[in-house]
Amino acid sequence: MNYPKSFLDLVECFKRLPGIGGKSAERLAYYVLSMDKEYVQEFAHTLMNFQDNIHYCKKCGHICEGDYCEICQDETRDQSVICVVESPKDVFAMEKVREYHGLYHVLHGTISMIDGTTVDDLNISSLFERLDGVKEVILATNPTREGETTALFLAKLLAKRNIETSRIANGLPIGSNIDYADELTLLKSLEGRKKI
Ligand SMILES: [Zn+2]
Repeated sequence: MNYPKSFLDLVECFKRLPGIGGKSAERLAYYVLSMDKEYVQEFAHTLMNFQDNIHYCKKCGHICEGDYCEICQDETRDQSVICVVESPKDVFAMEKVREYHGLYHVLHGTISMIDGTTVDDLNISSLFERLDGVKEVILATNPTREGETTALFLAKLLAKRNIETSRIANGLPIGSNIDYADELTLLKSLEGRKKI
């Protein structure tokens, strides 16, 4: 005997989430069965609200509500420095350090032969459209093979524009992710950045 269609539909929805296999999806569907109606409605409303209101900043690619993120709108931040990161998670990690007061640019990934991610799939062209008045670009992609490849690629392009370019990673374990690093390690990594 098969599960009823509505049950299977929900299982299928859960299975599309990252890291959720068939058994976990079934377990979650059973859990929804036990949820009261208000919670289910609130959950559904929150999902819709999330999709309607969370966007990528038109300038830097960070997540925000509205057209531009808080950081891009904050005129007290140093407009002459841009820190390039892979994902919005990295912006939150860097902000915890509290010692960085410049702007960000979020690539949404890295150049990767394995995934087939190319320059055109990333938020790169918009970086080169916002370099007026910028004195330094800090390349803070993760210290992984893909992160290094992407940093090197950007460094070559930035050199042509005569922008001072530096690379963090000093002190960060090879193959690690910036958003997992503790604040002190990130601070040291930022302070010890090297010109490339
Ligand atoms: Zn922004």
